[in-house]
Amino acid sequence: MEALFLHKAFDARVAPFNLRGRHEGEHLIKVAAVGLCGSDLHYYKDGGIGAAKITRPFVLGHEFAGWVEEDLPALGLKRGSLVAVDPNKACGQCPHCEAGFENLCPKVEFIGAPPFDGAMTGHLWVPESQIVCIPEGMSAVEAVMLEPLGVAIHAVDLAKPRLLETIILLGCGPVGLLILEVLKASGAGDIFVVEPLEHRRAMALKLGARNASASLHEAVAWTGTSGAPLVIEATNSADGMRDAVLAARIGGRVVLVGIPDGDIYTLPAAEARRRGLKIKFSRRMGHVYPRAIELVSRGLVDVKSMISHRFELKDAPRAFQLHADNAPGMIKSMIFPNGRE
Ligand SMILES: [Zn+2]
Ligand SMILES: [Zn+2]
Repeated sequence: MEALFLHKAFDARVAPFNLRGRHEGEHLIKVAAVGLCGSDLHYYKDGGIGAAKITRPFVLGHEFAGWVEEDLPALGLKRGSLVAVDPNKACGQCPHCEAGFENLCPKVEFIGAPPFDGAMTGHLWVPESQIVCIPEGMSAVEAVMLEPLGVAIHAVDLAKPRLLETIILLGCGPVGLLILEVLKASGAGDIFVVEPLEHRRAMALKLGARNASASLHEAVAWTGTSGAPLVIEATNSADGMRDAVLAARIGGRVVLVGIPDGDIYTLPAAEARRRGLKIKFSRRMGHVYPRAIELVSRGLVDVKSMISHRFELKDAPRAFQLHADNAPGMIKSMIFPNGRE
């Protein structure tokens, strides 16, 4: 079996990988598809995210779906059933877990974040509690997209959009586009998006944005006032926080979802203070899989049209390089370790 190993920044290689021994309560999953996430790309470009650093060749991949390799009667699954996986295992016992904030658990074990190797490989062990049953007929790539969709649902839960409220959304990568769709499903009003890449603006318009611009000032002008009452930021830029502040009207709310390159934000303090903004940071997700599954199976969100590229595992290093280079047309890449879907 092979895996995609990240050795250090800009050094990803496919090499043989020995499956470790089984831990109690785990089951073997044959990986059907794994998404390349913006956070994986940060590991690739920076060799880490904040204090989470790559210190040995590490297997990325936390958005994935696969087939169970044995009957799992406790879950009502037969060998070969397709399942999704929630990569989060919160401790369940710390004060944050007990208060219901499992997404903030400092002892979380997260498949695909150091030191827990991820799913860019043929098979891996997954604790039974993290196996998510999906409805008959859901495809592997849809099952993969439940994870980033969960991130979007959590962000919109934090944002609490009001019915028909005007919103500015910064950044139309996969998570930004999913946030756009969840906002639409939540009864939001006009959503104006700001995104530098033309093909991503086109996708945002297709998925229901009222209008899209590369210019923050143009988007602010479209609100008809001095900014939007709600701004959601999902960029990878150090300027994301500044732009979110400048896009918000007096008394507005800001939710920051993106991870900035270099792990530092710029903040125009007086602009934020004079507006009296309420700013929230979004971190992963809580128990959102049931709603993510409902949204996809009821057809309330389209998770497939943003999948722009598909790769076999041997070509995964090229997928990372293309995303790092912002190659034309890239939105979301899927990697298929056991052959293309
Ligand atoms: Zn992710
Ligand atoms: Zn905990």
